[in-house]
Amino acid sequence: MVKETQAQDIFIPEEFSEEQNMMATACKDFVEKEIDPNVSRMDGMEEGFMAGLLTKAGELGLLGITIPEEYGGLGMSFNTSMLIADHIGAAGSFSTTYGAHTGIGTLPIMYYGNEEQKSKYLPLLSSGEWKACYCLTEPNAGSDANSGKTKAKLSADGKHYLINGQKMWISNAGFADLFIVFAKIDDDKNLTAFIVEKSFGGITLNGEEKKLGIKGSSTQQVFFNDCPVPVENMLSARENGFKIAVNILNIGRIKLGVGVLGGCRVVLKEATQYAKERKQFGTSIASFGAIQYKLVEMALRTYASESAAYRAGQNIDDKIEDLIASGMNEAEAKLKGVEQFAIECAIIKVHGSEVLTYVADEGVQVYGGMGYSEEAPMARAYRDARITRIYEGTNEINRLLLVGMIIKRAMKGELDVMSAAMAVAGELTGIPSFFSPDGTLFSAEKEALKNMKKAILMVAGRAVQVFTNKLEEQQEIMMNIADMVIETYVAESALLRTEKLVAQRGEAACRNHILASQIYLYEAVQKLNNAGREAIACFTKGDEQKVMLMGLKRFTKVEPINTRDARRELANAIIDANGYCF
Ligand SMILES: Cc1cc2nc3c(=O)[nH]c(=O)nc-3n(C[C@H](O)[C@H](O)[C@H](O)COP(=O)(O)OP(=O)(O)OC[C@H]3O[C@@H](n4cnc5c(N)ncnc54)[C@H](O)[C@@H]3O)c2cc1C
Repeated sequence: MVKETQAQDIFIPEEFSEEQNMMATACKDFVEKEIDPNVSRMDGMEEGFMAGLLTKAGELGLLGITIPEEYGGLGMSFNTSMLIADHIGAAGSFSTTYGAHTGIGTLPIMYYGNEEQKSKYLPLLSSGEWKACYCLTEPNAGSDANSGKTKAKLSADGKHYLINGQKMWISNAGFADLFIVFAKIDDDKNLTAFIVEKSFGGITLNGEEKKLGIKGSSTQQVFFNDCPVPVENMLSARENGFKIAVNILNIGRIKLGVGVLGGCRVVLKEATQYAKERKQFGTSIASFGAIQYKLVEMALRTYASESAAYRAGQNIDDKIEDLIASGMNEAEAKLKGVEQFAIECAIIKVHGSEVLTYVADEGVQVYGGMGYSEEAPMARAYRDARITRIYEGTNEINRLLLVGMIIKRAMKGELDVMSAAMAVAGELTGIPSFFSPDGTLFSAEKEALKNMKKAILMVAGRAVQVFTNKLEEQQEIMMNIADMVIETYVAESALLRTEKLVAQRGEAACRNHILASQIYLYEAVQKLNNAGREAIACFTKGDEQKVMLMGLKRFTKVEPINTRDARRELANAIIDANGYCF
């Protein structure tokens, strides 16, 4: 929002190394061999099948991508684990199981465990010998996670904490050996985290939930009845649990955002193939502009989300390296690296999950009546997609959080939003400078992006002035600002990726990428305009409103593009490639 990023400074997925791509191929093979032919066994919850898949993934090294080698993992980078999550995303229910085990189940120990805890548990988790789950949510504590009622009380001999309470919606609970449990000690205000082995006793399960989708993943209520947890199994410090939960969820969020991409590509591939084969009115439905529009939107939204996810993933890796170089220990640097990009984590979670929802919905539509049949693949994709907007923090909570974090950082002086916002406010009353594109590729798009940022600064800056520290009570406006931020970040990521690729491969070889980023940006500007208008109308009146609406008009002025021709050209590329064409 406050500075321009250059294309050469961002990471693009085309730059993954041979080693990273080999890992991705191993993962793809695993999904194609072990999961695709066995979907009915997986989603039918055949006894032991899902747990067996985790064991096999562990044998291939897929459960320990970022776990250091001394604890049995592969010690690879954060962005490599993003790449793997992306490919696992094509595996339906398994991707939830995988995310719960490798993410929220394992990472609390990796980041917050002491040496003894790490050497005891991480090798078991990275090999898949043990399966993990994460118990935060309770019947009356969902989005408000710190309000949980589960209690931990020190035993009379001071050797154990006795945990009592009820957790809900716990992924992997049905077969987990290890439970990360959040509970409050006595009357503490904040949660404390514990590593709980199933074998400690005092744990009962309530049977599998009957869910809308991801039917193969285990989701159960977990009851703790005087569950005795040795004192040495407290994770980190007393009352540090909420911080652990929040930081681990940041990672879960970005992983979920990238983890939907595999699903998007599969749905696009199937929809493209079906559209090519299905004939109506004497021709393949893939030749109809209305169907081509859907295929193109599915592809370009996936492209844009992918660009944003891997850009942020590498930013996190780079930050971690910087922190280690400055003397911070590795585990802390990994945490701080992610924390620094918590805003991006939320952006990518919201955007990715909404792209998958869109892709699955339009996938059903391309299939017509067959989209509604359990005989065809779209019904499952549609059901499975829906959860992604709910867990790892609902999209409402993530939208609120991301704007809240921007404001907090601005207030703390970490992000100089306010002087940038003042400069934009000054521009509103000055004489507008007219931009004319210089004819070079993307000069108009770059100007549009600069202006999108100005529009955010104008709306958010004024909203903060009007509502001061009570802006958080204006959720409708917070949502509008979040949408403006998300669209700008994602559109910029797609454009910078394409620009970098063009510099590497030449314009002719990047035709699809160029079209995708131009159409995406064009649409993003319209969405930003809508959100901005809505927000402005909520908190301004009279002349001020007029000035701001005129400013918004100026900041969202883009030359119309012939999206019909651009989409038709991109649709042909998708049809030729049988799906994702980037
Ligand atoms: C299949 C599945 C698997 C899950 N796996 C796990 C797991 O492994 N471990 C775990 O701990 N949890 C897990 N969860 C729980 C999940 O994280 C929660 O369901 C989620 O955080 C939302 O909480 P809730 O269901 O209580 O909804 P609520 O918090 O009751 O929210 C209901 C609605 O109100 C909105 N809302 C709530 N608060 C606010 C607010 N302040 N402002 C505006 N809107 C608000 C929400 O966005 C939502 O739309 C899982 C859930 C499901 C369905």
